Amino acid sequence: MRAGQVNWGSATNRGRVRRVNEDAMLALPDVFVVSDGMGGHRAGDVAARTVIDEFAGAHTSADPRDREWVTQRVRRAGRSIRQGSGGGATVVGLVAEPGRWLAFNIGDSRAYACYQGTMQQITTDHSVVQELVDSGELDRAGMRTHPQRHVITRAIGLVGDSHPDFFQLPIREGERLLLCSDGLTNELTEAQIHSVLASQIDPQLAADALVLAAVRAGGRDNVTVVVVDVLAVPGAAASEDTRPRELPVEPLEEDIESTLPMPWAALPVPASRGSSR
Ligand code: MG
Repeated sequence: MRAGQVNWGSATNRGRVRRVNEDAMLALPDVFVVSDGMGGHRAGDVAARTVIDEFAGAHTSADPRDREWVTQRVRRAGRSIRQGSGGGATVVGLVAEPGRWLAFNIGDSRAYACYQGTMQQITTDHSVVQELVDSGELDRAGMRTHPQRHVITRAIGLVGDSHPDFFQLPIREGERLLLCSDGLTNELTEAQIHSVLASQIDPQLAADALVLAAVRAGGRDNVTVVVVDVLAVPGAAASEDTRPRELPVEPLEEDIESTLPMPWAALPVPASRGSSR
């Protein structure tokens, strides 16, 4: 386990409007990926599934999880999509290199890091609204409501080879990482997302709560999240209490279930959760 001791949770939901869930996700000890597919006639869900299968199929290999490894997976997925279903897909992911995370993205699915009470976006979107923000024509708050908020400028599988952007960050004890599709970030403000992440200790409950909040806020798109908690970094002695203490956690540990706003069994979430050391 390159990332040390981690816990994770994940959740996805079709939302209230879309007929098909074209998002897909993967949560394995050292590889976490979210992909958001696009294209008619079910091309989108096949495209996203193709991206996820590339990363899932390579999980058992002993190859170093570096930029080359990620780039190869993306290229192969792009080729498969163009030769098969058509359509396109975003990707955002985290792989554990020795001592650090390598985050990567194509499109507008995002990675965030929560550490010591703050939340920061790791990735930068490839989208029309991000370009408007970069040029000063739009503020970040306007990204969620702009009429072109769904238009992305880079995708896997549409035209040619799309290269991911890469971001390196240290693996820090107590950190919580979030991968999500735009169905989350277009429905909830970053302050709302941070608030949910800070109030649920368990990563699976946090993932469920984020998806539920996005669906309640409108659910106009598929919504998918993966939440990863770093409990102990490699080589460091395990502390007695390995909960993410740096987060401003509400005192829910007495009875987490009773504080939930609705019956969680009602959520059709084929969740993937786990822990590893
Ligand atoms: Mg989407």
